[in-house]
Amino acid sequence: MIMTFTAAFWIALGAPLLPSPAAAAQKPIPVLLVDGQSGGPYHAWQLTTSVLKKELEETGRFEVTVATSPQFGGHFSDFKPRFGDYKAIVWNYDAPDWPADQRLQLEEYVRNGGGLVVVHAADNAFAEWPAWNQMIGIGGWRNRSEKSGPLWYFKDGKLVSDTSPGPAGSHGARIPFQVVTREPEHPIMKGLPSAWMHAADELYATLRGPGEHMTVLATAHSDPENKGTDRDEPMLMVLSYGKGRIFHTTMGHDVAALSCVGFMTTYQRGTEWAATGKVTQNVPATFPTADTVSFRVDIARMDPAFLANAPTAAPPQPARPLPAQQRP
Ligand code: ZN
Repeated sequence: MIMTFTAAFWIALGAPLLPSPAAAAQKPIPVLLVDGQSGGPYHAWQLTTSVLKKELEETGRFEVTVATSPQFGGHFSDFKPRFGDYKAIVWNYDAPDWPADQRLQLEEYVRNGGGLVVVHAADNAFAEWPAWNQMIGIGGWRNRSEKSGPLWYFKDGKLVSDTSPGPAGSHGARIPFQVVTREPEHPIMKGLPSAWMHAADELYATLRGPGEHMTVLATAHSDPENKGTDRDEPMLMVLSYGKGRIFHTTMGHDVAALSCVGFMTTYQRGTEWAATGKVTQNVPATFPTADTVSFRVDIARMDPAFLANAPTAAPPQPARPLPAQQRP
């Protein structure tokens, strides 16, 4: 079923949420955000990095440093992020490969207890790097196939793995969809509704990988009328790799998707959990409900295309279904 939405379904929020006094009193958690490459211009990391940084810092809980890598084949000898200076690394980055010494540094950082946050197309990266695939659990595209691992999805309320052959990674047009909580007691999910509407985004499906030490926190139904699988696909996951904690969200294609209060809240809480193992942030009163999208206008405006397309008097309309894309 493809849902249609009227303006009444949309809550548009203009003001950022102020950090709570308790959060402000704590020393900010140092976070490194890695960007610099993507599979194509449809993942505008220059724009999405600004949003991902702002969403963490406005909680008062984080201090974010950005490390922008050279293009692959560039002078990686000059790119030496000191992972150990940070409690978590946010990965807004999709590259085919990385120099061996840099791979090893990241593996050791996470294995020794560093936090990793994987956002959207970051799970397209590094298809041939075994430790990366263990850290993210599941990924898509870049020639992944049954050799990369089984498909993972929910069936009859339980996580299953499916060894059917085939490619990995698919999605339909960007439309709003409902996210369903599967682990309500996990610190990241505690207090969230059992179902909520995510703003228009790519619903990733047919992801594959080792899926080791992986707990799926939330799923979404992939609609066959929108090139979907008719399965409940993983949306939010936590994993461990050695002593390290990983939070993986498959949502967040563009600034519009990142402006969803549901995305923001789970990303802010997921990053804190990856960094510290705890979540101290409250769920905002503006969190989306089972049938209502809630997004932040000030965040959406960080994409110049939002203003170019925005009506002048009426509330912003939900994104019309775009022609289906084969790209991530
Ligand atoms: Zn995408």
